[in-house]
Amino acid sequence: MTTTSDPTPADRPPSVDALARSLADTGLPHPLLVDAAREAIAAGAPESARGVADGIAGALLRPVVNATGVLLHTNLGRAPLATTTTGRATNLEFDLALGERGSRTVHAGGLLARSIGAEEAIVVNNCAAAVLLALAALARGRAAAVSRGELVEIGGGFRVPDVMDQSGARLVEVGTTNRTRIADYEAVVDDDLALVLKVHRSNYTISGFTEETAVRDLAQLPVPVVVDLGSGLLDAACPWLEGGPPAWLQDEPAAKQTLAEGADLVLFSGDKLLGGPQAGIIAGRADLVRACAKHPLYRAFRPGGLVLSALQDVATAYLARTAGQLPFWRMATADAVALRSRAEAIVADTGTGVVIDCASVPGGGTLPSVEIPSVGIALDGDRVASLRSHRTPVIARVVEGRTVLDLRTVEPADDPLVAAAITSP
Ligand SMILES: *Cc1c(COP(=O)(O)O)cnc(C)c1O
Repeated sequence: MTTTSDPTPADRPPSVDALARSLADTGLPHPLLVDAAREAIAAGAPESARGVADGIAGALLRPVVNATGVLLHTNLGRAPLATTTTGRATNLEFDLALGERGSRTVHAGGLLARSIGAEEAIVVNNCAAAVLLALAALARGRAAAVSRGELVEIGGGFRVPDVMDQSGARLVEVGTTNRTRIADYEAVVDDDLALVLKVHRSNYTISGFTEETAVRDLAQLPVPVVVDLGSGLLDAACPWLEGGPPAWLQDEPAAKQTLAEGADLVLFSGDKLLGGPQAGIIAGRADLVRACAKHPLYRAFRPGGLVLSALQDVATAYLARTAGQLPFWRMATADAVALRSRAEAIVADTGTGVVIDCASVPGGGTLPSVEIPSVGIALDGDRVASLRSHRTPVIARVVEGRTVLDLRTVEPADDPLVAAAITSP
């Protein structure tokens, strides 16, 4: 058998196995190195095998530095969050007091319910699953009323009418695109109407001659009111932030207040303004939450212990009012003065680029017209591909012919990575 130390005669292609073994230092498992070697040999360019292997390694899930200024970048995993696991068994579904099967809704779900004044809460994989499950469990074979101004597409194929279809609920459109009044909902109340679904217009605004019906008014209807909040702001007062709610959060509906106004259920994401792992939360009236938990789709949509454990930590932080230290909130509220001195330090260290004022955005399909003043570094020309190819990829964007790195979305501890990436050739 050929070994890596054997010189390969120029007139004979190396064996796949030898070439694969010569790439062992990439850290990829052997079968993937064999794939890389085969591809390179088939292309008649065995020397390209390392590049192919690097490409395979680069496509694996790994940390990147988000210098885009988009706080909740869906392509970059939305809210960043550190997690730890012990590698041990957990009481995921085990009641330690009784020594019998327990419920996976009591820990993270219980704490989240506590933090927003809900009777109960359960957790599913994302908010899209929460909407589908709530409709399937509460309105299958019956009617669900939605304002024509809220028949939205959230992105990634999540369109309210399609989700409604999949749930088996019949969509009853009420009102008009720009104005929907309580009388429009009242007109469709009958024995067949199972609920009203109110959908937060997370990713677009309508302005001008508009009117929407407040949750407070919808709560007077004789059917449950389910509110798809999407973004997952827990409490409009933001008691976890020293300075209270930032101005850009104005008008963003929050779970606690929406329930207090009379919503029977609220649905929201774990990885948007909550700042946690990807998850969807269904919270509110106990009988409705339980109906969702009993539905067969819950079994299909429930997250595992990794997510629930991370979400429990996040919920605990909110209850302890330390959620301001979650990466999302820390970045979102970072002071521009601090960002400027970091940018100046990087520019001074590297002798590259200039410090600029820029604007971050919440992203993740939330707060469509909000910009948060920020500070970054501008480099001449389009450098995004080379920044992306760095050992720890740095993701930036091009604005008017310059490459902009927004420091708001960069962990301060990652500044040296940014500096290394911008000076590497
Ligand atoms: C983002 C969003 C969703 C989808 O949430 P995911 O957690 O991404 O599935 C649903 N509804 C609204 C209103 C949203 O903003």
